[in-house]
Amino acid sequence: MRKKYIIITGWVISGIGKWVTGACTGFFFAEKHKVVPIKLDGYLNVDPGTMNPKEHGEVFVLSDGAEVDMDFGHYERFLGGKCRGSQSISMGKIFSGIIEKERRGEYLGEDVQMIPHVTDYIVERIEQTFKNSGWDICMIEVWGTVGDIEAELYYEAIRQMRHRKEREDFLHIHLTYVPVPGGVQEQKTKPTQQSVHLLQSRWLFPDIIIARSMDTLEDESRKKIALFSNLREERVFSIPDVSSIYTIPKILKEQKIDRITHGLLGVPFEESAKGELWETILAKPQNKEIQIGIIWKYTALEDSYSSVVEALKHVWHTLGVKVKIVFINTREHDGIEDMKQCDGCIIPWGFGDTAIENMVETLTYIREKKIPCLGICLGMQLMSIEFARNILDIPHANSLEFDKDCAPHDIITLLDSQKGVVNLGGTMRLGEQGSLLKDGIIESLYETSGRATQSNVIYERFRHRYEVHPEFAKKLEWTDLHISGVSQKEGIVQFIEMDNKVHPYYVGTQAHPELTSKLENPGPLFMGLVKACLK
Ligand code: GLN
Repeated sequence: MRKKYIIITGWVISGIGKWVTGACTGFFFAEKHKVVPIKLDGYLNVDPGTMNPKEHGEVFVLSDGAEVDMDFGHYERFLGGKCRGSQSISMGKIFSGIIEKERRGEYLGEDVQMIPHVTDYIVERIEQTFKNSGWDICMIEVWGTVGDIEAELYYEAIRQMRHRKEREDFLHIHLTYVPVPGGVQEQKTKPTQQSVHLLQSRWLFPDIIIARSMDTLEDESRKKIALFSNLREERVFSIPDVSSIYTIPKILKEQKIDRITHGLLGVPFEESAKGELWETILAKPQNKEIQIGIIWKYTALEDSYSSVVEALKHVWHTLGVKVKIVFINTREHDGIEDMKQCDGCIIPWGFGDTAIENMVETLTYIREKKIPCLGICLGMQLMSIEFARNILDIPHANSLEFDKDCAPHDIITLLDSQKGVVNLGGTMRLGEQGSLLKDGIIESLYETSGRATQSNVIYERFRHRYEVHPEFAKKLEWTDLHISGVSQKEGIVQFIEMDNKVHPYYVGTQAHPELTSKLENPGPLFMGLVKACLK
């Protein structure tokens, strides 16, 4: 099959789900073909890990160690496969690449210009990433909305790409928003019509329009959009507001998007078995309800823990248990009162010393009251500190991150590999690592999920600077809090668990198991947590 391209652009407002559109369109190809998503960002940051987390939510970590926008998490969940850092392209990367080329003398004797040099370089980066992936469908999400100055060069680059490709190899999907103004109570399609004109003035002609709206697009609105966009009505699709993003493939399939997109790209159509599997999982009745507290320390944006929330959703759909998630903010006080309403809890990732003491106090309550708990990265470090202070009688136990003078009680200490590193971008242990599991609760959960190799090795992703001190790890050997997994390479503590005779579920990991959880194969540690809550 010739290489195919799907382009996603958007209009009216941001945040209406260009990634949903991309992920759900790619979803129907992803079973028979490898779909490589590429994101063209307008920001000048070279490394998305340094972007504003309050605006962008969680930093998603790929297996190759790249820190990228959380949309890549959704792409991996919908499209399968593992994305690579090179799929995240920002204007920062483009400009720094151009300047490097210029300094190397690659343009000697030429005036270096936005067009053709920058646009050519954008195309070159896209084509290179696509080629290196070895995959056959490239899905490109263009940042922002049509007309944004920051994205103009991307639009021009896309136009040129389309001009050079065969008609059948290029599919342009345009996502818009159809508002219903308060006093009028009628779907308004004018912004959509205008956005198509905006695209046309850039010589871009969308093949498909997807309209986001509160309720399903009315026939009248669909007709109007089709007429003024020069499209047949069946090429206008509707995504209404839904309670679960996992239902969107079904909604689009009912409108035949799978057949139509295959037809437009000249790809033989086959029904998606994964789509059917998702539908069966989602149809499961949810007869029980539990409440899980996520004990957090950031002030804004629940998106900071987007993958943790998704992982819980995967379990709730799979087990047919409604999981009510409550965010327990411990900046001002401990979370004990809130925990009284919860069946279980998660202590997720985090950086810096804010709210730490309140979280440790809450953990004492959780441990003593035997409330099922999963500690993720920072969460596992805090479980260790709490245990050291209250059970092992090391009252000043701490992490070097929160108190740089806490040695010799730095039971959480700087990784050897990080000592002496000064460049901010280089100070973290990032990406996928293998861990060797010992027999126990964690090992049996991974085995049941089919994720452990025969020799008990499992792979998860990491993003941290600190580790459990190797000397402290030795002390744990004789306690109820066991080390149940270490890294294959360095022997770093990666998993801890409390003996289940002492606590129903007290499990911690230095990894980020939320990043690899999928609806069709939920993260084993989340599965263990919810099952423990049900007991
Ligand atoms: N701040 C801790 C560290 O760097 C934990 C990081 C995390 O939770 N991702 O080790």
